[in-house]
Amino acid sequence: MFQSFNPTPRTLMGPGPSDVNPRILSAMGRPTIGHLDPEFIRMMDEIKALLQFAFQTKNELTIPVSAPGSAGMETCFVNLVEPGDKVIICQNGVFGSRMADNVKRLGGSSVIVEDEWGRAVDPSKLEAALKAHGDAKIVAFVHAETSTGVRSDAASLCALAQKYDCLTIVDCVTSLGGCDVNLDAWGADAAYSGTQKCLSCAPGLSPLSFSERAVAAVKNRKTPVSSWFMDLNLVMGYWGEGQTRAYHHTAPVNALYGLHEALVVLAEEGLEASWARHDRNHQALRAGVEALGLSFIVPEDERLAQLNAITIPEGVDEATIRRELLNQFNLEIGAGLGSLAGKVWRVGLMGYASNPRNVLLCVTALEAVLSQYNAHINRGAAIPAINQAYT
Ligand SMILES: *Cc1c(COP(=O)(O)O)cnc(C)c1O
Repeated sequence: MFQSFNPTPRTLMGPGPSDVNPRILSAMGRPTIGHLDPEFIRMMDEIKALLQFAFQTKNELTIPVSAPGSAGMETCFVNLVEPGDKVIICQNGVFGSRMADNVKRLGGSSVIVEDEWGRAVDPSKLEAALKAHGDAKIVAFVHAETSTGVRSDAASLCALAQKYDCLTIVDCVTSLGGCDVNLDAWGADAAYSGTQKCLSCAPGLSPLSFSERAVAAVKNRKTPVSSWFMDLNLVMGYWGEGQTRAYHHTAPVNALYGLHEALVVLAEEGLEASWARHDRNHQALRAGVEALGLSFIVPEDERLAQLNAITIPEGVDEATIRRELLNQFNLEIGAGLGSLAGKVWRVGLMGYASNPRNVLLCVTALEAVLSQYNAHINRGAAIPAINQAYT
């Protein structure tokens, strides 16, 4: 007979999903009500207001897409790109290449502005591409590259795009809640995020925000949006103001309870306090990791606090170490991707998982397992370094 599935509780310190706050799991277990129930509609309005707070925007079209971050990405592209449109894509990791794939499937053309994996997008390269391609319509980039642990300067990149009259699409999947995301100050046009990174919610939803300029671009399209499900003209009929909502799809009711709770938790802590906590725990992890003798691949001023790409000691099979961390300590960390596969581990300190207990667990467990495999590390120095960083 099949039996209920009861997963072993893990500590999730990879690139996502991150540990889900128990408050959020408990919210998701509340009774399901109808998705057009007036109580539910009131909660939807609160989610929109809370997302505006999290994204720091007054954009009216600020909603969660009923699918994971990748669907938020696709919603931006499918609504803004028409056949023949030219899109400049800044690529410095995995997620930029997915953007290019979206554009290709929509019949648009991409101009790729490439930067090394592990480095921020270089604004001067973007400006050169904008000068060379006066017919470009959109600039797309990733604010927080989860594949490398890099933060790019979203304010500068958006300002350049505006100067050359382009719309912007900004991937904020790993940044929202973990560091400053300020759509209105940046002048960003379309942004999307995910629930399972720094919002510490279960995976499966994608917060999204469109500026008035972006909404106008959707309304003035020459061709219909090629996806029925993601067509924001239709989705807006469901997520629009007030009680006149029209059925579009059945909202993932309990998942939205979870997002609501996650945003309430963020509002209780405050945005600045959340970013400062992410930074504090990142600094402590850094102290411990460096005391072990490992290092960070990203230059200090381009590092994300919520995703730490660290080097692997010589002669160690990285997958074996990750397997042992999982088996012995129920601890998940991430592998490197693409050109960084086999070269780095990715340690997430996202949302609820960004706390001193996890920093200590991760560094202690790494020290233990690396010692078992006779890796060349400095033993005994990491915990004092972490304690020092917290005082
Ligand atoms: C995780 C992630 C995504 C994709 O989100 P899913 O929820 O996995 O679909 C997109 N962009 C970035 C930067 C991410 O970290």
